[in-house]
Amino acid sequence: MSTPRFGQPLGARETQVLLLVSDGLSYGEAASRLQPKVSENTAKAHMQNAFIKLGARSAAHAVFLACQAGILDGRPRRHGDHAGYEAHRRRGETICDLCRAGERAHRKAMKKTSKQNREAA
Ligand SMILES: [Zn+2]
Repeated sequence: MSTPRFGQPLGARETQVLLLVSDGLSYGEAASRLQPKVSENTAKAHMQNAFIKLGARSAAHAVFLACQAGILDGRPRRHGDHAGYEAHRRRGETICDLCRAGERAHRKAMKKTSKQNREAA
């Protein structure tokens, strides 16, 4: 693993630990929720890397900065459209079938719109 630096995007594991901790879980609990499971120390190490990348000084600060950056946007989770697809991507998750289909429809609609705009110009 390369040395984490400020400003780098969070990795999938770092985002997952941050999400679980923002839900109120301890590092030990977060560690046991990851697939595959990791040790509490590994979960802490992921969080430390997230701290560096976000420029955070505490878990609360990290959660706040991640919210600002749109990594944890606080919106209720929706699946099946472009926003759902983007949420998966930001969180480093595997994109579900619903969101994959929604994103395909979104791109098709965007293509159509830009074609119409070109023809109108
Ligand atoms: Zn989804």
